[in-house]
Amino acid sequence: MVFVNLKKDGIFKMADKTYGPENLTIEQLHSNPAAARAAMHLHYFTGKPCKWGHVVPRRTKGWACVECNRIYHNNFYATHKKPRRNITKEERNARIRARYKANREKYLLKDKKYREANPDQIKATRQRYWEKNKEKITQRKKEWNKGNRERVNAIARASYLRNKEKILKRAKEKRRKNKEKKKELKKLLLIQLLVQGYEEKNQH
Ligand SMILES: [Zn+2]
Repeated sequence: MVFVNLKKDGIFKMADKTYGPENLTIEQLHSNPAAARAAMHLHYFTGKPCKWGHVVPRRTKGWACVECNRIYHNNFYATHKKPRRNITKEERNARIRARYKANREKYLLKDKKYREANPDQIKATRQRYWEKNKEKITQRKKEWNKGNRERVNAIARASYLRNKEKILKRAKEKRRKNKEKKKELKKLLLIQLLVQGYEEKNQH
């Protein structure tokens, strides 16, 4: 998004800027406010400058063009905001931690509800994150493992004990399958040899 000063450059450029929750481009906006309202758009665009010379969309609610609106709100914020006490990162973190601790149950419940309501979304987000960072994650994991051998071993041991039956069963199953495979291979080999022998015999 590039807003060029009209007074200085004589023109406003609006590249790639979109408006509203539907991310409408200037071309997609209605030029008529009533039509925009009927379409539930938050903005419309006449192409005419506002009284301050901004050639930008206007809001269907309220009074100003988006640029006037932006300037107004920026000024409002600058003059009305409460002066913030400068706190250190540690203080802020402590505050966040305290808030979490005081409302832990509430946060956990909220998390749980969200997870239950949006399982696919969460899965997709995780998948995306993994795809984007898999090298980094793998590397980090490797390094962590290196520095925490004992813990890694303990976790592996605990996991083994927890799933012992399943693991043993799986191993047994694998051995059985391998055996069968070998048997099958032997059978095939034997058939091959027999066929070969038969063919050789018939050639002479
Ligand atoms: Zn304006």
